Amino acid sequence: MEFELDQDQKLFRQTLRSFVSEQISPVARELERGGQYPQEIVDGLKTLGLFGISVPEQYGGLGLDLISFAIAFEEISRGWMGVAGVLGSHTLACRLIATYGTEAQRQRYLPELATGQRQGGIGLTEPDAGSDLQGIKTTAHREADGYVVRGTKTWITNARHANPLPVLVKTDASTTPAHRGMSVLLLEQGMPGLVISKDLGKLGYRGPETCEVNLNDVRVPRENLLGGIEGHGMQQILAALELGRINVAARAVGVAQAALDQALRYAQQRRAFGQPISNFQAIQIKLADMATEVQAARLLTWWAATRLQVGTRADVETGMAKLFASEVAMKAATENMRVHGAYGYSTEFEAERLYRDAPLMVIGEGTSDVLRTVIARGLLR
Ligand SMILES: Cc1cc2nc3c(=O)[nH]c(=O)nc-3n(C[C@H](O)[C@H](O)[C@H](O)COP(=O)(O)OP(=O)(O)OC[C@H]3O[C@@H](n4cnc5c(N)ncnc54)[C@H](O)[C@@H]3O)c2cc1C
Repeated sequence: MEFELDQDQKLFRQTLRSFVSEQISPVARELERGGQYPQEIVDGLKTLGLFGISVPEQYGGLGLDLISFAIAFEEISRGWMGVAGVLGSHTLACRLIATYGTEAQRQRYLPELATGQRQGGIGLTEPDAGSDLQGIKTTAHREADGYVVRGTKTWITNARHANPLPVLVKTDASTTPAHRGMSVLLLEQGMPGLVISKDLGKLGYRGPETCEVNLNDVRVPRENLLGGIEGHGMQQILAALELGRINVAARAVGVAQAALDQALRYAQQRRAFGQPISNFQAIQIKLADMATEVQAARLLTWWAATRLQVGTRADVETGMAKLFASEVAMKAATENMRVHGAYGYSTEFEAERLYRDAPLMVIGEGTSDVLRTVIARGLLR
């Protein structure tokens, strides 16, 4: 791969950087603190066409290369990671439908998902099953013209806005291994029995809603079975999660870069013992390590994006990028806080928000330990 962005990618990054510095950064702290949904920013993202970043051009999307996809998530997260969350599971839903949907499903959903007229989400996690998706309990019983879905999904980002919300269910709970009986159903808002039962309180990532969703005998028409064939749900989700890992890795790079930017700025302003603290070697070492690790995380993310772009499965590569970048984000957020001293602990500064947002990166789309098992399995294969 080239280590330089091409002209289109540079222009795309510049456009996003301007949007973030004008529309996101000035309001992020206030909206985040109030846990407010960033509607105006979301409208701006729609105008930029960003809801179509994982939708093929023939369905009205941008049909972006995956390095540009990563750039979008990095730049937005540099301003406010929560906003990237609105787009994150939306792009996963688009990818699922674009890759595995029937032509009728693509025609029905993708053009409106591309403009943001519809938004997407993803419903995998349950109260008793997160990493172990084969352990989900939500069932879909077949009836003459569709399914009756019963279960509970939790930690669902965009739950109120997602329409459709692809959910992983068991269409046959008797199979061994369990994944052979799993399918994805495209649930729509307003289906009787689909109830957003509560908003979950969160350490960070405030802005987009993250909810528990009860599925009380929701009747889902047969044509909402993703791809039209039962039993492929787990493979469809695992493949789509590779894009999800690029999205989370890139978000982590954005959070880490923001932490580095803040630390660099503050270290030159703050004085101690008659000089800027940036004169102290201890501070310089932190800045040097942060800068090195952020750039390594970015390049690993771009490399994984190019591996996924060529069309093969890339679970090891995307796993490596997400594992490394998310741990870099955690470390950078902590180091930024140390550089800020007491002000790092203050709600008046941005350092504390990065410190609260970074941990989601090591959890969502596969925890660090689960990704280590994915990478090791790939190496041993
Ligand atoms: C803010 C937020 C938003 C989210 N949004 C969504 C969403 O939109 N849709 C959705 O479906 N989910 C969402 N999630 C859920 C997220 O994907 C899960 O939290 C994640 O997959 C981990 O699952 P878990 O929380 O059940 O942890 P568990 O699976 O219970 O894991 C607990 C611990 O055990 C470890 N562990 C588990 N299995 C293994 C193993 N085999 N080897 C080694 N260690 C292991 C894990 O690493 C972790 O440390 C969200 C979560 C959060 C916090």
